[in-house]
Amino acid sequence: MADLIVKATQLGQAAQFDLCGACGPSASRVRDDLGRWIYPAALPDGRTVRLFKVLLTNACERDCAYCANRAGRDSRRTSLTPDELAAVFDELVRRDMATGLFLSSAVCGSVASAMERMITAVEIVRRRYQFKGYVHLKILPGAERAAVERAAQLAQRVSVNLEAPNAGRLARLSKTKDFDRDLLLRMRWAREFMLAQGTARAGQTTQFVVGAAGESDREIIVTTSRLYRELRLARAYFSAFQPVPGTPLEGLPPTPTVREHRLYQCDFLLHSYGFGDEEIVYDAQGNLPLDADPKLVWAQHHPEWFPVDIDRADREALLRVPGIGPRSVARILSVRRQRSLRDLESLRRLGVVVQRAAPFVLLAGRRPAVQLALWPMGGMDGAGTAGSELR
Ligand code: SF4
Repeated sequence: MADLIVKATQLGQAAQFDLCGACGPSASRVRDDLGRWIYPAALPDGRTVRLFKVLLTNACERDCAYCANRAGRDSRRTSLTPDELAAVFDELVRRDMATGLFLSSAVCGSVASAMERMITAVEIVRRRYQFKGYVHLKILPGAERAAVERAAQLAQRVSVNLEAPNAGRLARLSKTKDFDRDLLLRMRWAREFMLAQGTARAGQTTQFVVGAAGESDREIIVTTSRLYRELRLARAYFSAFQPVPGTPLEGLPPTPTVREHRLYQCDFLLHSYGFGDEEIVYDAQGNLPLDADPKLVWAQHHPEWFPVDIDRADREALLRVPGIGPRSVARILSVRRQRSLRDLESLRRLGVVVQRAAPFVLLAGRRPAVQLALWPMGGMDGAGTAGSELR
């Protein structure tokens, strides 16, 4: 078992570039006391799952330009058999180190055989070791339909990493992946299978490598919005590109993680605030301003929406106010059935970021009296940006 743990550690490090099973933005992407390949991830019901995040192999025959595991790069290659992977995971579960599995793989041999090995590993985990907990299984580009469906049967979550927002951008990153055929079609198959099963048991996610292909934020957001609409994507992950030595993109500057952060904020506007992607405000290059929350930028461009009367506004209007998130809106709607909200302190107690909301609201029919800093930057509505593993 000691040898297997060493191999699993190496394959866990190789999995760190995939955020789909982690907590989201860079701020969460740190090692913790549990060890480098156990990632805490939050579930929507408040529970957390400790994910054993690992590749079955890091020996890849593909050549994705950003990837540490690409063919031909000088790096140590390691593989686990499905039996070995399942045994290591069972050991971690019995030691109470892991409560969930995130399994991905490089493409060694055909995609079909790589998928088969991953599926076999999860079947062993489920059958031999009777693990009934959370499993996130990666669907490899070009996977066969039967494998996509089996993955969606076995796992609570599946994901196909788009990495780029469209075919033109992906062509800059990989000569071997076809955006529509190898990636989007597989996501459609997963969606169709989930619908046919009449259950959303296996929600799906995707990941973008931000800044590797010269893409704009607008391209990423438009594609993300389309995936939410058409495929009921559970969530998108954004990974700021970091150059890896020994790859064709090693000379490209790293993407600032604040860009990743702004994309997550924008993503929240799409799936939790009722914004359409056409409402998002970009700069002349089609990128989100880095120095301000996208919701605040939208509010500054739409004075016709404000001020919003806290005592009378509907849910949609309240959600448009900077500093007010979905939870605060629910509390406001509940409290104001009993009484009027007359001051900023009352709003603060309901979770509103009042410094941000004050310039945009009426309280008891009047502008709030307190003079506050008008355009604070930073986080978004107290909602955070990491999101949860299941959404
Ligand atoms: S298919 Fe591409 S992204 Fe995946 S491991 Fe191979 S080189 Fe890396």
